[in-house]
Amino acid sequence: MNLNTITEVKRPTSADHIAQWRDGYAWLAGGTWLFSEPQVATDTLIDLDALGWPAIRHSSEGLELAATCRIAELYHLTPPPQWRAAPLIRDCCNAFLASFKIWNAATVGGNICMSLPAGPMISLTTALEATYTLWPRDGAPRQVAAVDFVTGNHANIVQRGELLRSMHIPASALARRYAFRHASLTHLGRSAALLIGTQANDDLLLTITAATPRPIQLRFGHMPSAAELRHVIDARIPADGCFNDVHGSADYKHHLTYYFAEQIRAELAQGT
Ligand SMILES: Cc1cc2nc3c(=O)[nH]c(=O)nc-3n(C[C@H](O)[C@H](O)[C@H](O)COP(=O)(O)OP(=O)(O)OC[C@H]3O[C@@H](n4cnc5c(N)ncnc54)[C@H](O)[C@@H]3O)c2cc1C
Repeated sequence: MNLNTITEVKRPTSADHIAQWRDGYAWLAGGTWLFSEPQVATDTLIDLDALGWPAIRHSSEGLELAATCRIAELYHLTPPPQWRAAPLIRDCCNAFLASFKIWNAATVGGNICMSLPAGPMISLTTALEATYTLWPRDGAPRQVAAVDFVTGNHANIVQRGELLRSMHIPASALARRYAFRHASLTHLGRSAALLIGTQANDDLLLTITAATPRPIQLRFGHMPSAAELRHVIDARIPADGCFNDVHGSADYKHHLTYYFAEQIRAELAQGT
């Protein structure tokens, strides 16, 4: 849609060109959310495209994604064979409620900064133990673990004017075995629950997203029994702890969480 409150679009070639932040500014990434509804509090868009950040870099250290990496670019990544968890990348791209038009415009960083429960790039990077790099307007870059970034539905730790620069996924997380479960009420609909388990040396790491307002991560350090798994989920997610919206009732999402978590545990407990 046309945003008729916008009077200026800035296209900086360096983030340093935006030294002062003021009310009315908004970073523009793919624009798939920004242009989907009126932005009455915004008069200036600051387009990230001209920053020219390389979308994807990978090395023996792991995978470095620019915040401006588009979903379509990530989908077409050819990962090294030792990254056993790499198929999760496509699984999570496919978990978008989105057409190819969205895929070609939406960015990984935009999805993370939207911080919706059903943000599949949040699920992916949290399950793979990513570290995000943030650029404040008036301070040194800072890093935050993906699991600590989202604080609630459409809420996160980003400070005023702060820019999400990149996400680093360590090779050690990409080398783990994994299991993925996802449900949506409609075909290609927004996720009701998206759970990912990864495992190495008997350590199960379970990441629960979409069902809850923010990601919940459970690290066991061993392979739990079904009873222990359920007990730990109950301890971390209270009876009213799931997210109620048109994409599924809280009770339904709670049920899916137990159901998928146990499937993941059973699958990964089977060994290599
Ligand atoms: C049809 C349709 C389907 C959708 N399906 C889903 C879905 O299934 N799951 C889901 O989570 N979302 C969905 N969305 C919402 C949205 O399109 C996605 O979250 C998308 O990934 C946002 O990315 P973007 O690059 O387009 O962000 P933009 O729309 O450009 O920006 C989104 C917000 O993030 C801020 N921002 C963007 N990049 C940065 C950065 N690097 N640093 C700081 N702030 C930044 C912007 O200022 C803005 O507030 C959907 C939208 C549509 C229209």
